[in-house]
Amino acid sequence: NTIKTQQCYMRALFDYDPTEDNLIPCKEIGVSFKHGDILQVLDQKDPNWWQAKKVGDNELPGLIPSQELEERRKAFVAPEADYVHKTSICGTRISKKKCKKMYQSKWNGEFDKAELLLYEEVTKMPPFKRRTLAIIGTTGVGRRTLKCRLINSDPEKFAGVIPYTTRPQRELEENGQNYWFVERDQMEHDIREHKFLEYGENGGNLYGTNLDSIRDVINQGKMCVLDCSPVALKILHNSSEFMPYVIFIAAPGVEVMKSLYDYSRNLGYSNRTLTFDRQSSIRYSSRRARTLESLASIYEEDDVKKSLEESACLKRMYEKYIDLVIVNEDFDMTFRKVVEALEIISNEHQWVPVNWVY
Ligand code: 5GP
Repeated sequence: NTIKTQQCYMRALFDYDPTEDNLIPCKEIGVSFKHGDILQVLDQKDPNWWQAKKVGDNELPGLIPSQELEERRKAFVAPEADYVHKTSICGTRISKKKCKKMYQSKWNGEFDKAELLLYEEVTKMPPFKRRTLAIIGTTGVGRRTLKCRLINSDPEKFAGVIPYTTRPQRELEENGQNYWFVERDQMEHDIREHKFLEYGENGGNLYGTNLDSIRDVINQGKMCVLDCSPVALKILHNSSEFMPYVIFIAAPGVEVMKSLYDYSRNLGYSNRTLTFDRQSSIRYSSRRARTLESLASIYEEDDVKKSLEESACLKRMYEKYIDLVIVNEDFDMTFRKVVEALEIISNEHQWVPVNWVY
């Protein structure tokens, strides 16, 4: 994975502090950076240390660890995945051991290299609209609701896709309304041909999102809104066709969940919907929010912890692809933040992966 370009721009995909680096020849000439910072790399001749400066920073250029050095370092010091005990990603149970192994396993070729990238080569583009919006996060954080609200708010601008399924069509269901109903053989064939962004099996039936459905939306000049599994991000990100903007909806903190639960229980509400506003004070709402029942199931002490750990692990694993993180503490506010972010990116220069352009 040698980088051929001599002078280029890189997005950092990890935090770096030279004052805490025992390998750097001289701490004073190190350049510190954070995940997401854009670095202008001026010289990559040395296999261990690149010369670089942070874009938008007036400091002189200095040293940053090369991709190779950092990879070697990470192989020796595996990240302490203390936020992961036993959690589940996309329905798959993942143990602490396995999660740790995923970071290391580049060395035995088991895990995809893209997940271990430390720098991503980027280029600056004039303002443009991303073609897809991927909303990711753990189940129950309101991704589907957010997607529907966005589409309903401006159907000229946003559209979703209709999933394919091999499940038999039910009474009153129309083909092409909630699903496209297809034969299993056909769908299995198309999956093998990589025509699906993602797919899964539920109750013995296949369900999935066909890439052509996404292309159709894009060809209509609309942004395709997907509440997809994060495993789909790699396909979306790695092709200039889909140019995704990726929003991670994070689970709200324990305190917010707990106070909401206690409050609702004290009031004796049962099975009514409650929500909380920006300041985390609580008010009744029939329109938005969770039912007390679902809240109660979340607020079993262990469940809250698990839900937060799962959310944190998911975010960490897919950080490379994420453009914006929103903690969903108030649904209206989350919606406004999404609209604002989309407005901003369509009016500003953007640093995007080089393969979106060349
Ligand atoms: P139903 O057959 O009752 O309409 O849906 C059953 C389940 O299928 C849904 O709850 C959901 O978990 C799954 N499902 C629906 N659409 C998709 C899809 O596009 N992809 C995947 N992986 N699962 C889906």
